[in-house]
Amino acid sequence: MYAKRLDKPGKVKLSDYDPGEHAKLKKEQGEEKLAELGAELAALQELMYGAGQHALLVVFQGRDTSGKDGVINKVIGLMNTMGCSVSSFKVPTELERDHDFLWRIHARTPAKGEVGVFNRSHYEDVLVVRVHNLMPESVWRARYAHIVHFEELLRDAGVIIAKFYLHISKDEQEKRLLAREAEPKKAWKLSPGDWKERGYWDDYTQAYEDALGKCAAPHAPWFIVPSDHKWFRNLAVAEALVETLRPYRAEWEARLAAVGAEQKTALQKMRSEAASG
Ligand code: ADP
Repeated sequence: MYAKRLDKPGKVKLSDYDPGEHAKLKKEQGEEKLAELGAELAALQELMYGAGQHALLVVFQGRDTSGKDGVINKVIGLMNTMGCSVSSFKVPTELERDHDFLWRIHARTPAKGEVGVFNRSHYEDVLVVRVHNLMPESVWRARYAHIVHFEELLRDAGVIIAKFYLHISKDEQEKRLLAREAEPKKAWKLSPGDWKERGYWDDYTQAYEDALGKCAAPHAPWFIVPSDHKWFRNLAVAEALVETLRPYRAEWEARLAAVGAEQKTALQKMRSEAASG
């Protein structure tokens, strides 16, 4: 698999993973594979929608410029967007801050049949909050367990979860920030805070390592996605999503066949009643 799948708690060292990895593929090959995976992803999504037994929650986290918006556009965009909702989580509003940290998150989780995409997520509450001391340590420390329990709750309600950490190198981030500055068309993407956040690189590394290490579970795995090459990042995310959904294919097909058979019987009954009446 192109991304590294973490599915149990443990120690994570991000320096063990190469952000520039591209599995010896060329960009054109990667794009071809992405198109194939995209077709399978869309087919799996349609089955999930039809079967109506599960929802899919996709979480994207990563440093500034790691490509959260890009991957949503290029990979989630391969699905039927009518069945998808994207939620971007920003600095909490006053109302949000007056609730527990999962309140606004829970409200945006997908209903059965749907795909919910999080552009940033509840993980900000153990990332930016930790790095900038926005809450006392006792508060953010307790959140890892809250997150684990919350994701168990979602699993028990039929939500399939896939969480992606878009892994970029410090050099690549610098290039992307400079490109944003240089290109008027990209300037809107640059916020003055981005350079400042870069100054906290190592603190974020530590915070990410803990978030990934403490909150990886079989039902809510983290995928570390090499993201210095945008095309490879897209391919790795698409592949991970397909592999996440594939195991459900047979179950969904059986469900659809059962629903189809029930509908057929009901239709036949209606027809024969209409004919005799
Ligand atoms: P983005 O960078 O995602 O394109 P913005 O520039 O509006 O969008 O950034 C959103 C900001 O909101 C980020 O700096 C992020 O760290 C912050 N944020 C998100 N969730 C929280 C949170 N729970 N507490 C504090 N800040 C948060």
